[in-house]
Amino acid sequence: MSEQGGRSVLVTGANRGIGRAIAERFVAAGDKVATIYRSGELPAGVLGVVGDVRDTASIDAAFTEIEAQHGPVEVVVANAGVTRDQLLMRMSDEDFDTVLDTNLAGAFRVARRASKGMIRLRRGRVVLISSVVATYGGPGQVNYSASKAGLIGMARSITRELSGRGITANVVAPGFIDTAMTQALPEKQQQAYLAAIPAGRFGAVDDVAAAVHFLASDAAAYISGAVIPVDGGLGMGH
Ligand code: NDP
Repeated sequence: MSEQGGRSVLVTGANRGIGRAIAERFVAAGDKVATIYRSGELPAGVLGVVGDVRDTASIDAAFTEIEAQHGPVEVVVANAGVTRDQLLMRMSDEDFDTVLDTNLAGAFRVARRASKGMIRLRRGRVVLISSVVATYGGPGQVNYSASKAGLIGMARSITRELSGRGITANVVAPGFIDTAMTQALPEKQQQAYLAAIPAGRFGAVDDVAAAVHFLASDAAAYISGAVIPVDGGLGMGH
């Protein structure tokens, strides 16, 4: 791994929420940060390329542009994600497919494209943003939890394939983080989560960004295939 700072870093969905905080943290450390994003305003210092993680051609085109400006991507953070909550018996095929296509296949498309440059460089960091719900489960989240659990198998398979090339792949599993995604939950559900969190508070986006930044650092070179919870203790034992 090169010195921290000056690396080509890609975070998907850096226009808001957790992705935005992750991008800001790498910018502050002096890295060259890019994002593939759909809409909104980006933090200062982030190269934005419009794209959709559901579309392979748009991912390829975005990588080509990012590589031209920043060089091969050394750190990739698959952050883009959506929810379409509904009880199992009422969940439509479309709601299931959209969530799997974005959260799981989207991460696959981004990691696959990033791996080409990383293999040539013989170094790289893949960080997949999962969720406590991957292993804890969540009512109304059959689609979401399945997509987030899939990321664990993905990171571990990447670890078995690519560790010999100096590439690590890890999962960060946030708990309840205060963003638009969780603010959309009914107040009653928010209070129920709060009561179950040993830390007694919701997480901040910077709590997640700190874990991602560590996994991308030289200090984390021997950590791969790990699932790092950032959940104030909510998911312990799962
Ligand atoms: P937000 O809803 O605030 O942001 C989601 C981001 O993903 C947005 O930038 C959004 O873009 C982007 N995105 C969604 N679909 C696509 C797509 N098809 N192509 C490109 N970008 C897309 O969510 P959070 O910041 O809260 O969540 C970020 C990640 O963390 C997600 O993967 C989420 O599942 C995970 N997470 C969040 C938790 C929380 O408590 N908030 C807990 C556990 C995990 P746009 O603005 O254009 O919609």
